[in-house]
Formats: sequence, C-alpha cells, structure tokens
Amino acid sequence: SGAAGALALSGVTKRYGRTTALQDVDLDIAQGEIVGLLGHNGAGKTTLMSLAAGLLRPDAGDVRVLGASPVRDPRRVRRELGLAPQELGVYPPLTVRQNLRFFAELAGLRGAGTERRIEEVAEPLGLTGLLARRVAQLSGGEQRRVHTAMALLHRPRLLLLDEPTAGVDVETRSRLLAFVRELARTGTAVCYSTHYLAEVEALDASVAVLDHGRVIARGSLAELVRRHGDSAVELTFS
Ligand code: ATP
Repeated sequence: SGAAGALALSGVTKRYGRTTALQDVDLDIAQGEIVGLLGHNGAGKTTLMSLAAGLLRPDAGDVRVLGASPVRDPRRVRRELGLAPQELGVYPPLTVRQNLRFFAELAGLRGAGTERRIEEVAEPLGLTGLLARRVAQLSGGEQRRVHTAMALLHRPRLLLLDEPTAGVDVETRSRLLAFVRELARTGTAVCYSTHYLAEVEALDASVAVLDHGRVIARGSLAELVRRHGDSAVELTFS
C-alpha cells in the first residue's frame, strides 16, 4: 500500500467514561512528513498516539497506520510503528544497554546487528556514555531519551514522540531535533507532540492543534500564525 499515508485518522472519537478525549478527529500524516501536535494539557495528544499504536480502541471512526488497522492487525502495525510515550516500561534495575537489548528483541531484532543498532540510536541522543548505567540512576530527561531510543531501534516508518524533550538539556534537544529531521528526510513519518512552537519551527514541521479533543487548526506554522496571530502562540505555550 505505497499510496497509503503513514497515519490516517477519520472521524475518530474516544471517550473515557463521561470525558470525551477526542471528538470526530480527522488527521493525516504523509510518509516523510513531520507533524507537530500542539495543545494544552488534556487536549488529547496522548490519547491520539495511544489510538495510533493500538493501545486504545476508538469509540467511533477509523485509524490506519500505513493502511493497516492497529486494532485488527496489531502485529503489522507494531512492526511499522515506533512509540516513545511519556510513560513506558523501562526496567530501572537494568542498564540502558540491557533495556535497549530487551526492547530490540521484542521488536524482532536478532544477532550481531543489534549491538551496532543500539550504538547507532544511542549516539544522536547523547546516550553513548550512559549505556552501562542503570536506568534507576538516570535523570528524568535521560530516561526520556532512553524511551526515544527504544522507539527508534527497529527503524519504524511512523514515529510517535510524546513530548520527547521534556526535561532534556538544550544541547541534547537540538541534537534530537536534527536527528528527527534526518529521519523524516529518509521517509519516516513523525508525529511529535510538544508545548514549544520553537521546536515545531526547528523541525520544519506542519502543525495540528488539538483543543478539547478537536483539531482546530492544521497546516503550516506560517499559516497558523497568520490565521490565529498571537492566540497561536498562546495555544502552544500552555
Ligand atoms: P498532556 O499534555 O497533559 O499530556 P494530552 O493532550 O496528552 O495532555 P490526554 O492525556 O490525551 O491529553 O487526555 C485527554 C483527556 O482525557 C483529558 O481530559 C484527560 O483528563 C482524559 N483522560 C486521559 N486518560 C484518561 C483515563 N485513562 N481515564 C479517564 N480520563 C482520561
């Protein structure tokens, strides 16, 4: 399905009890496209990523990852998708390398290539010097980088990054942004949730703004600022 977008949501609604987290959401991400997913706390960003990863089912509407349904075809979607959620199962007593090894195995990587791949993803994230460290001894920002590394190991075609730079220092942040841009150049689609307009700009990403579970703006950053003026900045600096 070469023509299929990397991620396609149509008419997606998700409720938690009486809370409607997403309401009739349409969103497409093309291969090689980076979409900055913006919105206040509680706007529905994490819910959207969880639906794409098949961790949740929509109450209405359709979700597709490279044409496949995460609910009906979870194994195929897992192969294509890399998820770095805000919370993820790392094992604190193990080292960074052991965690990455374990995750690589889950993702189906085998053999000598695995160690090379671990080092490849560790380098741009500034994790090379931390590979032998126990995760329990890392800062929050460093743990966040381990999550991102996990999502990248199996070279996913759709990468979902949920606030990957929270608690990450300035130098690593710019290295991470450059790396994400490079991934997109090689065809990876990226859904990147953030509170920072400057990151969207640095990524040269298009934008989707979520507000109370609805997509209220979609397009280039320039268009968004033209249409919403200062309130665009307000929207994104919550
Ligand atoms: P943040 O920027 O804080 O991560 P978000 O944009 O990712 O926020 P979501 O986590 O998707 O937002 O939450 C959307 C809405 O759904 C919020 O009102 C939240 O309180 C609610 N919600 C999320 N998860 C659950 C849950 N498991 N049970 C009940 N309500 C939930």
